[in-house]
Amino acid sequence: MPNKTTRCVLLSTTLDLRDYLAPEIARLDGIVSFVDHLDGSDAADVEMAVGWHPEPDAFTHYPNIKAACSIAAGADSLLHCPSMRDSIDIVRVIEPAQAEMMSGFVIWHAIYHQRRMGTYLQQQRDKVWQRLPQRAAREVPVGILGYGAIGARVASDLSMLGFPVKVWSRTPKMTSAGVAGFHGTDGLDRMLDDTEVLINLLPLTSETRGILNASLFAKLRRGAYLIHVGRGAHMVEHHIFAALDSGQLSGASIDVFPIEPLPADSPFWTHPKILLTPHDACDVTMAAVGGTIRATAEAVQAGLRPRDTVDRVRGY
Ligand code: NDP
Repeated sequence: MPNKTTRCVLLSTTLDLRDYLAPEIARLDGIVSFVDHLDGSDAADVEMAVGWHPEPDAFTHYPNIKAACSIAAGADSLLHCPSMRDSIDIVRVIEPAQAEMMSGFVIWHAIYHQRRMGTYLQQQRDKVWQRLPQRAAREVPVGILGYGAIGARVASDLSMLGFPVKVWSRTPKMTSAGVAGFHGTDGLDRMLDDTEVLINLLPLTSETRGILNASLFAKLRRGAYLIHVGRGAHMVEHHIFAALDSGQLSGASIDVFPIEPLPADSPFWTHPKILLTPHDACDVTMAAVGGTIRATAEAVQAGLRPRDTVDRVRGY
């Protein structure tokens, strides 16, 4: 238990964090004192930040911040903030229940493709009674980019449903039963070969930015389906539209976009082969965010490194 409150600034351009975190802010009273913005000498008392898409110069105002917490599993908006310093530990939220939520979301989209639900929705609108050929899950190979906390759960759940599952990670992994593992640059091509449903669960790093591009799509089974729940900047946008228009991709479920909220004039809204959700695949719970903030404050007070920090070298 810390013996004084830790002063923590809320930094976001896209969310009212005080409102968003209200119940946890109340629960952390006496442990963390949250401020919205401080100038002058008071800013030197700020030892911690909670952030989500902060202003580019956000960290320059606070010379003594030791740790910055994301409010989600991904911490890329903090890591890539131009004023972020190497001395600041970046903390992400890890919650097993999130992997379960994500798995349900991804499974729904995989079955939407396997059971041709897009065509049935159109047939209903057109009042067409027409049965379509069915395919078993075992006939629809799935590939997953990323075999981390979330990817591992998605892989094992899809495998239990009968889908053949291949996964790709940076380093070699022990995979669960029914899941074939691949890693590194060579492994990527073998993972993509004959994959029909491609699920992106990678973090955004300098190596993964733009990975969803024409060259990758060309390696998939023709008519493949993309389920993209990573980060918007993984996509080369015009390559997505070209692959959909050529039929190399038969459709795409996309949850994350380069600019969020998605601008009204974005072509993603209206493309007939895209199923779009507003970055809502799976949230961490408020309790998990609060627990992470509390543990980080306690570590800062004790002069220790917080848990669940981002590795600066690998970028996630
Ligand atoms: P983890 O950090 O636990 O796992 C990341 C995985 O990606 C690891 O398997 C890692 O490999 C792999 N990876 C990273 N870089 C590379 C690379 N260059 N080549 C191959 N594999 C690589 O992350 P989580 O599973 O918790 O989350 C994954 C991502 O899902 C988040 O970063 C975020 O982008 C997204 N997400 C989206 C949400 C939404 O609502 N849409 C919600 C939550 C997460 P290795 O195992 O070798 O380290």
